[in-house]
Amino acid sequence: MYGASDVRVETVPDPVLQQPGDALVRIVRSCICGSDLHPYHSMPANPEGSPMGHEFLGVVEDTGAEVSTLRVGDFVIGPFAWSDGTCEFCREGLYTSCLHGGFWGADGVGGAQAEALRVPLADGTLVKVPGIGEDDAVLPSLLTLSDVYGTGYHAATQAKVTKGDTVAVIGDGAVGLLAVLAAKQLGAERIILMGRHKDRTDLGLEFGATDVVAERGEEGIARVRELSGGHGAPKVLEAVGHMPAYEQAVGIVRPGGVISRVGVPQYDDAPVGFESLFGPNITLNGGPAPVRAYIEELLPAVLDGTVEPGKVFDRTIGFDEVPDGYRAMDEREALKVLIRP
Ligand SMILES: [Zn+2]
Ligand SMILES: [Zn+2]
Repeated sequence: MYGASDVRVETVPDPVLQQPGDALVRIVRSCICGSDLHPYHSMPANPEGSPMGHEFLGVVEDTGAEVSTLRVGDFVIGPFAWSDGTCEFCREGLYTSCLHGGFWGADGVGGAQAEALRVPLADGTLVKVPGIGEDDAVLPSLLTLSDVYGTGYHAATQAKVTKGDTVAVIGDGAVGLLAVLAAKQLGAERIILMGRHKDRTDLGLEFGATDVVAERGEEGIARVRELSGGHGAPKVLEAVGHMPAYEQAVGIVRPGGVISRVGVPQYDDAPVGFESLFGPNITLNGGPAPVRAYIEELLPAVLDGTVEPGKVFDRTIGFDEVPDGYRAMDEREALKVLIRP
């Protein structure tokens, strides 16, 4: 990406092993993320450009001398951050705070919207999935474990969603819809999805939402309060990242409840004072999901078809069409775009 609305497909040198812990991965599937749309709106023009993409499935093509758990030919899931798996934060499951890790597309590491990628700290980062073919029908669902499914699940676990809960989910993008699925898996009884795009909220109903609220602002707040017994929802999962969504969350959360945010915040000045969070004793939670911590946990139900999070993909494109894929997601013509090299 060279700036707002400026995405180009370019031929670059193949990645090579640089560190003994690196692996080279041939990308089998990648995709465009809702979070990629933030720079698509606001990135200042930059002649250097930024490699894009942080969600991928691939096959290991080569490994550095210190890689011990992966072999050439292994099929792997790549989480949206790389991490060593051994530092104090990784041992706590907080892989996104890894002392030696980082994010794709920065610090000399490429992006995953590519044919190949150098993966640092490969043993700690990649999750091997045996027995997967490069055309298996389960690939889209596996790909959601790179980010959107784990992120939706993180929203729900950070809010401590449990059996019988009433949960409100703000946002009908891929993460919001998969937060619905996660809340359902964790036993929530009532799941109120706030979103305005009927085809998306229909998928939310399929994933387990019990109610859809299309209204926004004061009207939306009143509707969610009405549906959740008058005082608001005890668990609110915010999967957008813009200020109106935060204000919506503050408006619909029940006193004593939790707001769990996983939409990357595009603001730094959200209210936290007496009138917003302090007065009603609200817990504000969330952050970048350490999806690496959830892949093994969520994998079995994906593999046996109990859940099909891959339904969030509604378009598949080749590399030539990637700039148009960004446009389609930005214009809400596509929910989530899968890239097949
Ligand atoms: Zn993503
Ligand atoms: Zn670490």
